[in-house]
Amino acid sequence: MTYRELWEKGKGLLIEAGTGDADIDASLLLEKACGTTRQALYSGGEMPVDETRKELYLSYIRRRSEHEPAAYILGEQGFMGLMFGVDSRVLIPRQDTENLAEEVLKELCSGMRILDLCTGSGCILLSLLHYSSGTTGTGTDLSPEALEVAEMNAERLGLSERAAFSCGDLFGASKAGGKFEIIVSNPPYIGREVLDTLMPEVIRHEPRAALDGGPDGLSFYRRITGEAPDHLVIGGLLFVEIGYDQGPAVKKLFEEAGFADVRVIRDYGGNDRIVRGEMSLRTRENKNGKAC
Ligand code: GLN
Repeated sequence: MTYRELWEKGKGLLIEAGTGDADIDASLLLEKACGTTRQALYSGGEMPVDETRKELYLSYIRRRSEHEPAAYILGEQGFMGLMFGVDSRVLIPRQDTENLAEEVLKELCSGMRILDLCTGSGCILLSLLHYSSGTTGTGTDLSPEALEVAEMNAERLGLSERAAFSCGDLFGASKAGGKFEIIVSNPPYIGREVLDTLMPEVIRHEPRAALDGGPDGLSFYRRITGEAPDHLVIGGLLFVEIGYDQGPAVKKLFEEAGFADVRVIRDYGGNDRIVRGEMSLRTRENKNGKAC
């Protein structure tokens, strides 16, 4: 069997399985199985494939046919122009989340300390550190397995000196007492009844804990807005990613927590995607229960 025939076979099996993007996935998985580039496969399409590579490729195709996301099989995913190692221990970084990273980048200055809650693969924190200088950060996550991936990514990107990772529940995991100029989070925000309607790639293979936002999808935002004022300097900023229909509810939570200059920002598709607010003296007084 030639490379071209093998690719055709893989593509056919993916079309049959109805996984979508069969063409691209069949190519990417063939590149991975053969450890080569698309160009080489294209120009050498009529060459015979050895049995080991063929079997490896077909094992990838089988996994993809069972709706395992291509990123897990490939073992990596691009985000903000960087490559992140990923596997089933972490949520796959989404393009939507690049909007969040870009908004935060606009505000970053040398010397700033960043806290990334629910860091997962570390994609947000590590991109922010990569594209800024003189910044440092902490990523927290409830899952020790996810943090293994984040630490590996920090090493891979040469950022281990500037990034620390800490296991635990939201702020409970951030090293006691430290304050931050920036807190950012893409927390789990899918409502319970929506969870089971997600595509099989997501619901069968990605960590449920990285998606489940509680009964109404807002559980993490309540806790983050409530607790963030204890961990931000005055003038510090809180940024969260949200679902397209959560703008008004999350804005209200920011305002109830006393954040100033609360803004809902849209993504490139025109959907509400980010809420940001500024920690002011009023936020602290609100938190301490004083009238303002
Ligand atoms: N921060 C990671 C990301 O944006 C993981 C988010 C999560 O696990 N909810 O991809």
